[in-house]
Amino acid sequence: MKCPICQSINISQRHQLTVFDDRYGYPGQFKIAFCSNCHHQFIANPISSSQEIIKLYSEYYPRSTFNIDKYKPHKEIKGIRAWLDGKYSSAFRWVPTDVTVLDIGCGFGESLGYYQSRNCNAYGVEIDSNITRVAEKFGYKVHVGLFDPTLYPDIFFDYVTMDQVIEHNVDPIQTLKNIGQILQPNGIAILSTPNPNGWGARVFRSRWINYHAPYHIHYFSRKSMQIAATKAGLTLEKVKVITNSEWLLYQWIHLILFPKNGVSSVFWDHAREKKFTHKLVIRIMGLFHKTKLNHLSTRFFDIFGLGDNYIFFLKKIDES
Ligand SMILES: [Zn+2]
Repeated sequence: MKCPICQSINISQRHQLTVFDDRYGYPGQFKIAFCSNCHHQFIANPISSSQEIIKLYSEYYPRSTFNIDKYKPHKEIKGIRAWLDGKYSSAFRWVPTDVTVLDIGCGFGESLGYYQSRNCNAYGVEIDSNITRVAEKFGYKVHVGLFDPTLYPDIFFDYVTMDQVIEHNVDPIQTLKNIGQILQPNGIAILSTPNPNGWGARVFRSRWINYHAPYHIHYFSRKSMQIAATKAGLTLEKVKVITNSEWLLYQWIHLILFPKNGVSSVFWDHAREKKFTHKLVIRIMGLFHKTKLNHLSTRFFDIFGLGDNYIFFLKKIDES
């Protein structure tokens, strides 16, 4: 086996970690491999048939029923509250005003509303067709489907953002190449993605919420992202470790309500009915969250670069 990023053959199974779909109950076991050269982690036996991938995302991964009246774009945030909550863990928060920007995996378009309020020329890509109604109502420019660089003129965008998306891609280097094609020289791609070398992965191991198999295929280190970027004609300009404090709340609930293999989690799978004890656990952990201990721990680990979430800033090399 070779590292999908640096092609090294120095691959070990990460602390013999075997994981399964502990959110939506897709059956099977998945092995986390670790590259000793670039510290990239990846699922050694990912789902490869496109038919199975379609099944995975259509039958297991939740397609939410979206109420358009409840749609709220992301708003400007400032101050200590935003810092404490870890709001700057999202890539879109780092995009300046008055630029042309594409958000890949734009969900229901909350980031597009934010960009628009900041006078940006904003575009979105989203596989979930729920976005269509929001886009029509608010006049957002959205492509429903997979990201396809040929839909845009070359060197068109100042910024491209991907929040918690790159880890789902089968071939992330190709995705970065495609992004490079549509970025202007010196344009910036901003990616947020889980940090497999942080405290969460080390402590919680196979029960870490971000070993989200088989959906998360790639877990980048600083070095593996640098190598992937270089192969795609980009340079790794800057790395930040900032984590949303709610992730730790979810982590505690996930540990307490951890399901068996092949069964969906009563916490993550909203289609499952919650019993009184489940609701009680969620309620108690919610009250604990109000003590802000989760927030303070998250800020503590982030300061030391050991938090659960990376933000990578990749710049397109100006060859002129
Ligand atoms: Zn490697």
